Amino acid sequence: MTTASPPVAQSVDEARIGPNAIIQVVAAIEHRWGPETAAALLSEATTYTPDTLPHDMVDEREPLALVRLLLDRMGADAAAPVLHDAGVRTARYLLAHRIPPLAQWVIARLPRRLGLALLLRAIGAHAWTFAGSAAFSVGWYRGWPTLSFTGCAMCRGLTLHRPICTYYAGTFEHLFRTLVAADITVTEVACQAQGVPRCRFLVAGR
Ligand SMILES: [Zn+2]
Repeated sequence: MTTASPPVAQSVDEARIGPNAIIQVVAAIEHRWGPETAAALLSEATTYTPDTLPHDMVDEREPLALVRLLLDRMGADAAAPVLHDAGVRTARYLLAHRIPPLAQWVIARLPRRLGLALLLRAIGAHAWTFAGSAAFSVGWYRGWPTLSFTGCAMCRGLTLHRPICTYYAGTFEHLFRTLVAADITVTEVACQAQGVPRCRFLVAGR
């Protein structure tokens, strides 16, 4: 079974994405390399500064520009865990401000597969906030979800030796660990940056 996000999106020229893709990446860079490095990368790659971070949806090319600059300066292997941390920070924000406590309470009490299915249905309905012009889809394999972005907004145009969309892996993994089961892992097994048609994430656990 595969469900794609609705085709409301968003041509590449005007697609927008939630501000956490900038705010939390900056926070993670700051945590890893300090505020001066974070400020320098942010203002070189985007129209923002640490004092004028966005509050509303942003042009999806801006987070991508920040990721690209981070990769150029730090290398993919150093950048990947920082982007993962940014994803975890985004998940914490969503848990604190966007996912209603009652929904969290219900999902946490459901059997694992049902909880994941309900959570992914809600995530899919909000795909426009994190996928931009990409198509987000959910499939199932042996009782576990597989998640895909076609036209991924976080690695478009990049060419790398490794998957780089750890931002999304970190976001999903922290949400699933907090709400469904603490041993869940989310791994990007194929990334557009490696020349494949879509970024694909496997969800696994005991
Ligand atoms: Zn990717």
